[in-house]
Amino acid sequence: MTGKEIIKYLEEWAPKGIAWDKDNVGLQVGNPEMKIKNILLSLDLKVEVIESAIKENCNLIITHHPILYYPLRNLDFSKNRIARLIEMLVNNSITLYSAHTNLDFTKHGVSYQLAEKLSLKNIRFLKNLSDNQIKLAVFVPVSHINKVAETIHQAGGGIIGEYSNCSFRTKGTGTFKGSSKSNPLIGNKGVVEFVEEVKLEVLVDEWKLNQVISAMKKAHPYEEVAYDIFPLKNENVNYGIGAIGELKDTMDTNDFLNFVSSKLKTSTLRYAKSNKKKIKSVAVCGGSCGDLVDEVIKQNADAFVTADLRYHTFQDAEGKILLIDAGHYETEKPVLDEIKSRLEKLLIENKKIKVLKFKGSTNPIVFYNKSGAN
Ligand SMILES: [Zn+2]
Repeated sequence: MTGKEIIKYLEEWAPKGIAWDKDNVGLQVGNPEMKIKNILLSLDLKVEVIESAIKENCNLIITHHPILYYPLRNLDFSKNRIARLIEMLVNNSITLYSAHTNLDFTKHGVSYQLAEKLSLKNIRFLKNLSDNQIKLAVFVPVSHINKVAETIHQAGGGIIGEYSNCSFRTKGTGTFKGSSKSNPLIGNKGVVEFVEEVKLEVLVDEWKLNQVISAMKKAHPYEEVAYDIFPLKNENVNYGIGAIGELKDTMDTNDFLNFVSSKLKTSTLRYAKSNKKKIKSVAVCGGSCGDLVDEVIKQNADAFVTADLRYHTFQDAEGKILLIDAGHYETEKPVLDEIKSRLEKLLIENKKIKVLKFKGSTNPIVFYNKSGAN
């Protein structure tokens, strides 16, 4: 199996098209055409991760955080940390692929996995993404409607939440008159034709539009296919930011802090107290999501678990919600298990390729606890 096949599979789950527009997701370094030996997963890339890949005979590393994020001015292997990592990857023929905000914004991605880790029930997105869908309307002769619709669905059109093959069909009359150079399927050139047609409407994610249109044109019997493309403002129920759910049993503040700290394996939590004493509804967002605090309060959650919070964010939230900073690394790490299990499903017939998680930590933050200090 090639790197390209693995990447294609991952991007069906976490499409690059949903990533934040300033992000740099996807292939970072290497050759996607190469045959994969083993795969190593890590939140970040560092020298120890590459050393572990070499030791375990992995020639594909998948990280959450991309290394090519800020522009590189040089590739000085002696001074530049990123350049040194690139040198190590190239010298050892290792390909690096990163799924960053596309993994944050997909179902069962970073925030969903954090919610799962905290045993939340009824998990859904905190806020759906919007403005990334297209309404495609195509006019098809009645005789070909099922073939064209099926082709569009196979190419990825007509998915709403857990439903596929979604379409709307309206019958009507299409008219056309072919020029002397035309080759009409129905009727004769130079004669106005009236044909019973169906207007077929489907929703298409904008990053799938080109593939859907090209498949649609191949399946459509007309020489010239009439279709319309409308950008939509709709929320996309399949993709979103953060996650929210409920604990099975209500907890008090201390029990919940204890629970979060043991589930995420961190002894240190920074938090702001809430006036609510009972925790049932919990919002989460893996990584830096301080700007979602107002949204979480609006949705009446009792607690919000995220990371990278600022002093004034705590100050604004105090009294309104139990706001917990559980660490960037700690809140994102659970997604590695989901990547692993998905890849193992893909590789079920191909047991020679192992999917491993980096055993060390790539967290750059360490905690100092002076014994006896308050
Ligand atoms: Zn992150």
